Amino acid sequence: MMSGVRKKILFVVMDGLGDRGCASLGGKTPLEHTQTPNLDKFVRLGNSGIMDIISPGVPPGSDTAHLSLLGYDPYKVYRGRGPFEAAGIGLISRPGDVAFRCNFSTVNDKMEVTDRRAGRIKEPETTELIKALSGMVIDGVEILVKEGTEHRAALILRGEGLDPNVTDTDPHDLGNVLTSVGRTKNAAFTASIVNKFVRTSYERMKEHPVNILRRKKGLPEANILLPRGAGSFPDILPFPQKNMMKAACVAGVGMIKGICGVCGLDVIDVPKECTGGVDTDMIIKADVALKALNKYDFVLMNVKAADVAGHDGKPEQKCSVISRLDDMAGRLMEMMDGNVVVAFTADHCTPVSVGDHSGDPVPVTVYTEGMVSDNATKFSESGCAEGRIGRIRGCDLLQICIDLANRSEKFGA
Ligand code: ZN
Ligand code: ZN
Repeated sequence: MMSGVRKKILFVVMDGLGDRGCASLGGKTPLEHTQTPNLDKFVRLGNSGIMDIISPGVPPGSDTAHLSLLGYDPYKVYRGRGPFEAAGIGLISRPGDVAFRCNFSTVNDKMEVTDRRAGRIKEPETTELIKALSGMVIDGVEILVKEGTEHRAALILRGEGLDPNVTDTDPHDLGNVLTSVGRTKNAAFTASIVNKFVRTSYERMKEHPVNILRRKKGLPEANILLPRGAGSFPDILPFPQKNMMKAACVAGVGMIKGICGVCGLDVIDVPKECTGGVDTDMIIKADVALKALNKYDFVLMNVKAADVAGHDGKPEQKCSVISRLDDMAGRLMEMMDGNVVVAFTADHCTPVSVGDHSGDPVPVTVYTEGMVSDNATKFSESGCAEGRIGRIRGCDLLQICIDLANRSEKFGA
């Protein structure tokens, strides 16, 4: 039996925070280059290290990265991003379903894609168009569709004998709409449903009043839905049962909410100031996370802004995001009591020189009252490497925090 006060756990996941040396910053990373007095204080009082989110040199997607941070092995549970994207916009799949993400696109009468995003059409037009596709059943398979942000949507197929091993219909570029095919013999039926759905979406949307109006205005018509990224519902033990903790997530980005929702975390709505973009108000998000800790044992908070700056290849913008992340860390320090174990880390690196995720390890700092001291003093890729956590995997972090929170089970007698 563990004794000691059972503490709460807060994960602060700063999306895409890690980086590589930037020529314009004198060879330093944005974290090394930026003053971060509050994060550094957590480093001095806590323990630090570096972390391979999935495995050394493997660039994670945000979805597989969060699965790993939540203690799951993505190689065992990940079955495509479809279910997470769908869950992120409130379309929850079940075991046996096959889920896709989709684009509203524009095709001509030869079925050639002329605009993959249908002029970045958005609500309320997409909401109207989706209505034309609701309640459909194809060969006994129930079709569920829902609009997402901008030109995005999600599709779930529900029925007997479905298999996610099907190819995309979206050409991912201009060109002909592709015919979905099964990668295995079993998946041929699912592919045929996808193809019939795509054809029906065109038939029902091409003369829809929304598109007639767009044609008049000279805008690209949203006359087809193109599914891609087929996935089946991951077969996982929900996080609260697995870890005996009431758990919630605080995030602005749909896909992160979707991953956490699929893993059984309660998804807490954030105020609209928390956009998930670079202008998001991090202090408000920190307050939402702190409040959630009153009710939950585990809270994961995701802040997207650093990833956006990394994808855009903007080192200066990433530095200014880091300054604001540090203010947020200051707020947490001010408001948090000693009964919380907090971990500051990233879900992956998004180096500005790459403009995409890389397989570099991310910095990690864990703090609670009464830890053994270590030599790390600066929250950065190089600074955290000085600490006694050393180099761990993403799926190890949760157990380390569970143990520091006096919630672990003894292995053996
Ligand atoms: Zn990410
Ligand atoms: Zn990213």
